[in-house]
Amino acid sequence: MAKRMGIIGGGQLGRMLALSGYPLGLQFRILDGAEEAPAGHVSPLVLGPLDHAETLERFAEGLDCATFEFENVPLPAIEQLSKHVPVYPGLKALEKSQDRVVEKEFFQSLLISTAPFASVQSLEDLQQAARTIGLPAILKTRRFGYDGKGQMRLNSALEVANGWETLGSQPLILEGLVPFDRELSQVSVRSTKGEIRHYPLVENFHRNGILHKTIAPAPGIGPNHPLEKQSRQAMEKVMEALDYVGVLAIEWFQMGESLVANEMAPRVHNTGHWTMDGAKTSQFENHVRAVLGWPLGLTDACHFTVMLNLIGSHRPAEDWLANPGVRLHLYGKSPRNGRKLGHVNVLGNTALEALTRSDSLLDWLSE
Ligand code: AMP
Repeated sequence: MAKRMGIIGGGQLGRMLALSGYPLGLQFRILDGAEEAPAGHVSPLVLGPLDHAETLERFAEGLDCATFEFENVPLPAIEQLSKHVPVYPGLKALEKSQDRVVEKEFFQSLLISTAPFASVQSLEDLQQAARTIGLPAILKTRRFGYDGKGQMRLNSALEVANGWETLGSQPLILEGLVPFDRELSQVSVRSTKGEIRHYPLVENFHRNGILHKTIAPAPGIGPNHPLEKQSRQAMEKVMEALDYVGVLAIEWFQMGESLVANEMAPRVHNTGHWTMDGAKTSQFENHVRAVLGWPLGLTDACHFTVMLNLIGSHRPAEDWLANPGVRLHLYGKSPRNGRKLGHVNVLGNTALEALTRSDSLLDWLSE
């Protein structure tokens, strides 16, 4: 009988997970609070809130395993589901990644560098932290931040006071500003059998706090580059400490020849979307394989790829498809300012070809 996997969260990540699993003969069921959830267009949807015991029971019935597509799943929901069905990546990974202070302490316990930081509960804490860490610094909410939301750069004593005014109603973290050369990320996968595979390091560019572009593999970093080794070793330490199962992403700041951890995401990740067309096995298929304990697919790049996020609005599909080397992935979401609606993978036989094609697409978009 076909195995059935449950996915908590019906956004684009859940949708792409399901789409990658059907060719392997799997069935899926999605849990989401919104009827129009993009994953519900491709798989049966259980509609209801995550803190509702009866909804969780309905969702779990007859599943072989379950996973989630976002890291802010309430822990009690995972605890309850785990009584019925194995849920991966699991509680440990969620506990460490839902709170920025806990996450940074975890990285440091594994001797992985982070920005200097301090936990902030009051204006006095913030003033003290600003003196110790120095300005400029970045003030962030400890929980529920994404796509640059819930954070402010503080440059002066006046901005410290404003920062507290704006964000101070919740637990905060002050982070020293890392003078990075560029932003990289590592996407890797570990199965229930302990098999691990790493995708190559990629370079990421953000606009207004949202990922705009990923270049894969990162220019100038070949398979034997010392940064690849550093990144993979750190990733393996994290995965082993968490007894991790599935795809895990770590976002790095590169400073010369060393890497500073920004954050991790216990799920398939936007900086891994290039793998759908540019790698031998996509991150989505590998996540599904990992959760089922099946052999993992190869993670080598088979093209040079530039991934561009389509945010807010996009050109009609047929216009995109007239461009050579473009693979289009739309999520079935209605346009809204700042919303991720899809992405394109722009492929090339050389890095130069992929970059030239993506630059001319960006010119075309701004016409
Ligand atoms: P985050 O939500 O923590 O991933 O932050 C969003 C973006 O803000 C990152 O991708 C960086 O470009 C920038 N950023 C965040 N934290 C820092 C930091 N401590 N130092 C320098 N830049 C940062």
